[in-house]
Amino acid sequence: MNRSRLLVLAVIAALAAAFFAFGGHRYLTFDNLKAQVSAAQSYYLSNPVKAVGGYFLLYVLVAGLSLPGAVPLTLVGGAVFGLLWGSVIVSFASTAGATLAFVVSRFVLREWVQDKFDRYMRPINEGVRKEGGFYLFTLRLIPAVPYSAINLVMGLTPMRPWAFYWVSQCGMLAGTIVYVNAGTQLAAIQSAAGILSLGVVGSFLLLGCFPLLAKKFVDAVKARRVYAKWPKPARFDRNLVVIGAGSAGLVSAYIAAAVKAKVTIVEKHRMGGDCLNNGCVPSKALIKTARVLSTIRRAKEFGLTSASAEFDFAEVMERVQRVIAQIEPHDSVERYSALGVECVHGEARIASPWIVEIQKQDGSKIALTTRSIVIAAGARPFVPPIPGIEQTGYYTSDTLWDLRELPRRLVVLGGGPIGCELAQAFARLGARVTQVEMLPRLLMREDPEIAALVEKRFREEGVDVRTGHRAKEFRVEDGHKVLICEREGRDLAVEFDALLVAVGRVAHTAGYGLEELGIPVTKARTVETNEFLQTLYPNIYACGDVAGPFQFTHTAAHQAWYAAVNGLFGSLKKFRADYSVIPWATFTEPEVARVGLNETEAKEKGIAYEVSTYAIDELDRAIADGEAHGVVKVLTVPGKDRILGVTIAGEHAGDLIAEFVGAMRHGIGLNKILGTIHIYPTMAEANKYAAGVWKKAHAPQRLLRYAERFHAWMRG
Ligand SMILES: Cc1cc2nc3c(=O)[nH]c(=O)nc-3n(C[C@H](O)[C@H](O)[C@H](O)COP(=O)(O)OP(=O)(O)OC[C@H]3O[C@@H](n4cnc5c(N)ncnc54)[C@H](O)[C@@H]3O)c2cc1C
Repeated sequence: MNRSRLLVLAVIAALAAAFFAFGGHRYLTFDNLKAQVSAAQSYYLSNPVKAVGGYFLLYVLVAGLSLPGAVPLTLVGGAVFGLLWGSVIVSFASTAGATLAFVVSRFVLREWVQDKFDRYMRPINEGVRKEGGFYLFTLRLIPAVPYSAINLVMGLTPMRPWAFYWVSQCGMLAGTIVYVNAGTQLAAIQSAAGILSLGVVGSFLLLGCFPLLAKKFVDAVKARRVYAKWPKPARFDRNLVVIGAGSAGLVSAYIAAAVKAKVTIVEKHRMGGDCLNNGCVPSKALIKTARVLSTIRRAKEFGLTSASAEFDFAEVMERVQRVIAQIEPHDSVERYSALGVECVHGEARIASPWIVEIQKQDGSKIALTTRSIVIAAGARPFVPPIPGIEQTGYYTSDTLWDLRELPRRLVVLGGGPIGCELAQAFARLGARVTQVEMLPRLLMREDPEIAALVEKRFREEGVDVRTGHRAKEFRVEDGHKVLICEREGRDLAVEFDALLVAVGRVAHTAGYGLEELGIPVTKARTVETNEFLQTLYPNIYACGDVAGPFQFTHTAAHQAWYAAVNGLFGSLKKFRADYSVIPWATFTEPEVARVGLNETEAKEKGIAYEVSTYAIDELDRAIADGEAHGVVKVLTVPGKDRILGVTIAGEHAGDLIAEFVGAMRHGIGLNKILGTIHIYPTMAEANKYAAGVWKKAHAPQRLLRYAERFHAWMRG
């Protein structure tokens, strides 16, 4: 705890001690205050301003320091100032006092609590950010919930002080009036507790529950309205129907079967979806061959006189298919059927919130009634409407895998992860690759110096990187394909033999019933869902690429859990999808992996941070492997070892990041990573050394000076 916090804490402790030492707790009792009321009334009549000012100040102090006595003071307010003015004065004084307590708790304790209980506070913070006002209002309506406890606890959350102030004032108004009114009858009241008869407490509880009930009621009315024109079947064929058997759909179906629900998965194309057939698997298989070639070309670096590889591109692409075939059984109809999932090969259409129609591959058609639906229809490559693109023709990640002849000159449109991975792989396989990106750098989501490492390597390997180039037009001139791109107002021509479009992916949202049901899509053109992954219809869920915001296999699987569990058990308990720690990697060389914030985002969001950077060039294992390049860059909370985010560029970055993903997920700081034994010599030691960089920067200088003196003294 820093000095100013300690100072505030000391002042509060001193004031509280003085309060008790001078008998404040005995003075601010119901009986004592009741005995003083007539004196206070006559003082108020002769000195109204001083009386109100003094009362207000005393109230704010008692409430602000969370001292006992707020209730008797409120009663006195009623007795002295009457119902109207008493209510006004108490309302402002109690809210000001509450806000003071809130601010003090925030200043003194919040950072410590957030830091110490990071893991538990994260969902609370998220909840407060979204619905904090609502819950505060509910709590304030129930005087039985201790006033001081609410002030102090809310101070630990991210709620804004102004929001706290006005919500508290509104929420406490009813209770204030009741107590002040009771105060006007003070002579007739025997104890403060007596005010809250069972009936009054019951009424307040009802009042407190009112917003919750109202919310539930509004939700039910909304749901009723969306379902109004869709007759609900009396019984259902299935508990869950899943549309799409990609990463998201398969995990949803798996979970449903595991909990013994009756589930059907519908796939119109190939089981495994994009990841298996057009995405992760083929791209990583191709990257592996390209890597082998790159290593062979570096033979001299490894002490070999010479080495070369002869290869047939078609055979490389056949290997890619063999890899797919080898992994295929994991996602197959046979495996899922054995797990208890009914797999249907056909095209699904949501006919009503309760009915999924399936046009089967064999031509027959069926309709299944279902309690819940999970939409996991994925995404497809986006092809920008650039003039001439249809004439020159193009490949996307959907069609690329049919190539059997290596294009001599390949234009890769797009500098994102997919464009980068494939541009490097094709260049290593021998194509002359020109990579065109409109934005100022490759991998725009990563920090500039990280993207620069990748770009440098690309250029060294012969990729013609054209960042800041906008593809304007495609032409066929004298039988040659030409891309015209614009850079700083000038047009440039790039001749090519084949074009690979990798400028992003759009969700599948058309043609299977969303339009008819009026299910909205977001600005990013993904299916709109709430935090439970429910669409407009609470029994229809969406997950994976179709829902966004991430487009990775692991996030699809992560969301799938929520969609399936909420879809099956949502009437009992629903879970909010947790996106607090999302990692990803781009499998270029150097590989780039990230979790949490990077520096660019921290700056954009105005989040204070410290950076600790460890250059992998110095790592023994990296040197031995001839891979001494890259960096581990860790962002932490200033002065703390709490990790805000990590970016790793270098060999096996995607594997190395796992340690930080686990650390962030479970609230483990750099001190603990430093205190963990890492095997020598491994790349994983880079993580420990990055933690070491942080530790060195935070070495306790004063203590070290004492240690130096101690050693000098020991030497005599
Ligand atoms: C080249 C490339 C490389 C990638 N590399 C990685 C990587 O290294 N790591 C990573 O995490 N991610 C990677 N991805 C992303 C990853 O592939 C996707 O995020 C993931 O496949 C999304 O899974 P999904 O289930 O949401 O969608 P999909 O896998 O697209 O599955 C959706 C399925 O729904 C089916 N479908 C759609 N409509 C209907 C309908 N009406 N009826 C029946 N079936 C329907 C489709 O046929 C499809 O099979 C890569 C993607 C590409 C293109």
